[in-house]
Amino acid sequence: MSDVFSKIPKEITSFINGRWIDANPEATRLPVISPATGEAISILVEADENEVALAVQCAKETFKSGVWSKASVDNRKAVLLKLRDLILKNKDIIAKMEVSNTGIPIAQAYGRQIPRSALNFEFFAEFISQSSNPVYDQNPNYMTYVRREPVGVAGIIAPWNAPMALASMKLAGAIAFGNSCVFKPSELTPLGFICFMELLSEAGLPDGVINMVNGSGLVTGAAITANEDVDVIAFTGGTETGRIISAKAGNTLKRTVTELGGKSANIIFADADFDRALDSALVAIFSNNGQQCLAGSRILVEKRIEDKFIKAFVARTKNLKIGDPMNMSVEIGPLISKAQFDKVLRFSSLAKLHDGIEILAGGKAPAGFDKGYYFEPTVVRADDNKRVVCQEEIFGPFATILSFDSEAEAYEIANDSKFGLVAYVWSTDIRKIMRAQAEIRAGVIWVNTPLTRELRAPFGGFKHSGVGRDGGEWSRNLFTEEKTVSIPLTDFPIAKLGMGG
Ligand code: NAD
Repeated sequence: MSDVFSKIPKEITSFINGRWIDANPEATRLPVISPATGEAISILVEADENEVALAVQCAKETFKSGVWSKASVDNRKAVLLKLRDLILKNKDIIAKMEVSNTGIPIAQAYGRQIPRSALNFEFFAEFISQSSNPVYDQNPNYMTYVRREPVGVAGIIAPWNAPMALASMKLAGAIAFGNSCVFKPSELTPLGFICFMELLSEAGLPDGVINMVNGSGLVTGAAITANEDVDVIAFTGGTETGRIISAKAGNTLKRTVTELGGKSANIIFADADFDRALDSALVAIFSNNGQQCLAGSRILVEKRIEDKFIKAFVARTKNLKIGDPMNMSVEIGPLISKAQFDKVLRFSSLAKLHDGIEILAGGKAPAGFDKGYYFEPTVVRADDNKRVVCQEEIFGPFATILSFDSEAEAYEIANDSKFGLVAYVWSTDIRKIMRAQAEIRAGVIWVNTPLTRELRAPFGGFKHSGVGRDGGEWSRNLFTEEKTVSIPLTDFPIAKLGMGG
């Protein structure tokens, strides 16, 4: 058991205007559960509509004061870089806090989640110091140029699967361009942000620029979406929630970006570098305990190498080390919650009922784990992409393998999905790769690589995987208003109205 548990506060309230507010005795209390034990490790004091309104008001006043929204780019850049440094300096406690309520193996928190969180602030610090705006001077009598101004108050609603890495991308983007924020982490995973919120003033960020409200989606999240003074919503989460939030945000004409679910195809052609494709297929589905939007959860293997691939993939899957996520050598930790465990188990049960689906590994809780939400890494072979395990986002360590004969068949299967977030392609034939990247309908195509997030490039989904993108220019578009200013360079004649006669 890690020493971090002694550092977790008994109650977690909201963080408004630079401080933790006092707990409202009337407020609903939600347990924060350790997925490794199933026990409550803290209590979340839920922010109701009034508390959300207080946070929004604070963000709005901070914005209007200009203390941050009109701060110089150099000043903002320095604060963002300081935040990066402070995240890295405190990575031990942030990682442990995050792992204690996500179950993400700590090696992955150290190796990926926390460095990525720091990088998000560094990236936007550099971006704002380099970006420029267009000037139109084709008309010799006018100078017309475009200003970018912050939108105002950003509502940021984040999921539980990679709390710090995902929320910090939105927070860094929002504040880099001068906005103030009201941010809601998932009610399941507030812990990583406790230390983070306390670093903000140390980094020099004025109080009230980032406010955090805690609570469930239906109460706290819905209050953010409905609030008239929230100007923009950046949402990352499930497709059904995205649908509800987009509809609600439309009532108050907020701009919205939604990053939603996925069921991404990982296409492995027979001419691929087999060993690299195998290593990457394991990373793409089993990192983060399989709970990632960009998981390569549908593995499409060319028939010629199907038997060889399945044999090797199943052997490696059975060899994955399951255990306490605080242990540095563990590769698979527990699922986030009882509900998520039940969901993954339900898909295993469905798989067992179908003749066309064969369970090759896992499919149940591992032996020897009496507590917590551990689930064995699971591999199923499906005969048809129409099967429910090929169509629904399971969001767990659950790989589905399908095979194909021809390139055309591979693309047809890959595109036969309501989702379109990412796709992976493994081949050494450049012409085939070029055909694949053009044929597949997904927002990101990773060729011969498991996960490569280029923050300068757009990230987001086709179809039910979301609307809008983030990344350099795209985050700027979301978090800024464009203002076109025209100035005449000569005294041109102006029609004289109201002169009589
Ligand atoms: P979720 O949709 O249940 O919750 C996400 C957030 O929305 C939480 O903070 C939740 O409290 C809040 N919420 C829920 N209902 C709400 C409502 N009615 N109004 C306002 N807020 C509400 O998602 P989750 O289970 O936390 O996360 C898993 C999902 O997120 C998966 O589907 C995954 O694919 C997706 N995801 C997508 C990306 C991406 O970049 N495309 C990244 C990570 C996760």
